[in-house]
Amino acid sequence: MKNIVLFGPPGAGKGTQSAFLVEKFGFVHLSTGDIFRSNIKNATELGTLAKSYMDQGKLVPDSVTIDMLKSEWSKHSHAMGFLFDGFPRTKAQAEALDDILEEAGHQISAMIGLEVPDAELSIRLLERGKTSGRPDDANPQVIAQRVAVYHKETAPVQDYYQAQGKYKAISGVGSISDIATSLEQTIQTL
Ligand code: ADP
Repeated sequence: MKNIVLFGPPGAGKGTQSAFLVEKFGFVHLSTGDIFRSNIKNATELGTLAKSYMDQGKLVPDSVTIDMLKSEWSKHSHAMGFLFDGFPRTKAQAEALDDILEEAGHQISAMIGLEVPDAELSIRLLERGKTSGRPDDANPQVIAQRVAVYHKETAPVQDYYQAQGKYKAISGVGSISDIATSLEQTIQTL
């Protein structure tokens, strides 16, 4: 079983590339952002809580996010492999994910980071905001906040996997299909 963490700042292209990787490798795709948005759409208690953080560009608290991820993960115990997208976003989440997988006799195969310069991210997110309907993409201040939170709280997660020899970087700048090919080649070597 391959368990991949797809990593990168907001706007790096994780969602776009996930769709391709799911098709190619048959992963179960667990995107915490998508799960929160679906809870917001269905007006659940979790959705209301998550929205109050997401609209400000802040992270949803670890305890809430970890419990949710664990519950989603356990629904797919017979999966061939998982693609984690937008999770883990803090060191505490990374440790929790290791514990969840270890209990079931599994582990993370690799974290693959899509690397994109900050200036390019803001442009992409504002552009996405024109059509995505996501309030967090429509406001330049919220975008700046998300990129800042990424550098402060999420970037250390890269070090966490790097220390285990599991971090692999890919350039997230270029055509969608070239980036997809690099990802595919990287995953095939795992
Ligand atoms: P992006 O990568 O473009 O920021 P996501 O859909 O991954 O988009 O995340 C949107 C928002 O959802 C984040 O800004 C954050 O508020 C919340 N969120 C998503 N994943 C997590 C997580 N693992 N931990 C805490 N908050 C999260």
